[in-house]
Amino acid sequence: MKNIWHYNKLLPAVPENSRLLLGEGNTPLIKAKTIGKMLGLTGLYFKLENLNPTGSYKDRFAAIFVSILKSRNQHLCLATSSGNTGAALAAYCAAAGINCTLAIVDGAPQSKIKQMQLYGAHTYMVKGFGKDAVVTEEVFGLLKRMARAMQIALPVSAFSYCDEGMKGVQTIAYEILEQENSFDHIFCPAGGGGLTLAVARGCIAYGECYPVKIPKVHCVQPEGNDTIAGALRNHRHQANAIAASTTLISGLQVPNVLDGDAVIASCTKLGGTGYIVNDQEVFKWQRLLAQQEGIFCEPAGAVALAGLANAVTGREVSAKDNIVCLVTGSGFKDMLSVDSNFGLPDLQSINISQLESNIRALQ
Ligand SMILES: *Cc1c(COP(=O)(O)O)cnc(C)c1O
Repeated sequence: MKNIWHYNKLLPAVPENSRLLLGEGNTPLIKAKTIGKMLGLTGLYFKLENLNPTGSYKDRFAAIFVSILKSRNQHLCLATSSGNTGAALAAYCAAAGINCTLAIVDGAPQSKIKQMQLYGAHTYMVKGFGKDAVVTEEVFGLLKRMARAMQIALPVSAFSYCDEGMKGVQTIAYEILEQENSFDHIFCPAGGGGLTLAVARGCIAYGECYPVKIPKVHCVQPEGNDTIAGALRNHRHQANAIAASTTLISGLQVPNVLDGDAVIASCTKLGGTGYIVNDQEVFKWQRLLAQQEGIFCEPAGAVALAGLANAVTGREVSAKDNIVCLVTGSGFKDMLSVDSNFGLPDLQSINISQLESNIRALQ
């Protein structure tokens, strides 16, 4: 089976016997069934990163990072996480027999935390982390110092912290560019911007090796965490930290500028721009992905599509363009938000004759 190590020439060197495999990468790129038509597009595709082993694209990062730890005989992985990086690291550390200790964003979804705990990670939620820029900076600073003292790398999924692991995320772009058809646009959701930057850098790196058309890479952020998208859209060169993140979307609450400036430079180079979406629009597209396409994603996984919808409204894409929206994480990651956003009924048990009359009423 093809996995991320297929691209090992473009990845950090890891001896074969240290390469961890849990089924990461080689995710499906499927054509939209009805949302494309709804938006008047003939070539809309979804890249299903929710199908990675722990339910998000962060597995591509963790697979590389933890394999490197293993190859160096390290026994501890110390990390910060808004949920998905932690779950991914916890899983690969479990597979490698490495102790995984995680400082988690305040308010991260319970289901993400339980997942980390079942993999055996040590979990600590820090008050204000991910919400307040000062606290967030302090947590990163503390772990950076502690990691340095222990001579271990800090696996924050951003190039500004962990270039090696992010090379794993670039494989998303390689998989897209390897397809027979060429693509005009890739829409990426962004918190700190590492994912968007990995996709843009992946496109550039692949284009240096093979004669392919390079798509425009766009960065989509919720308005409550607009550190990059607005600046990119307005042709500014610098991302801006915000005092507090107010989006409800787990995974995209990153008030600090991690890879922001580099995202702006790379997206601009590839002709991409920024899109800002509000949380309610995102929940609407999350529901439509489930109901119209059969794709169950967490809110962050619907952000790229919400950004594309804005691009369609603004006539910034053409009807015949081939477009990829990244679906970055699984719906199972955040069942609480499903509960609170969609008003789904709590079931009361009924008897058999009630069941029968309900089914008859549908016919
Ligand atoms: C981490 C994450 C993102 C955003 O990635 P950044 O590198 O912070 O921009 C998007 N979606 C999901 C599901 C994530 O876990």
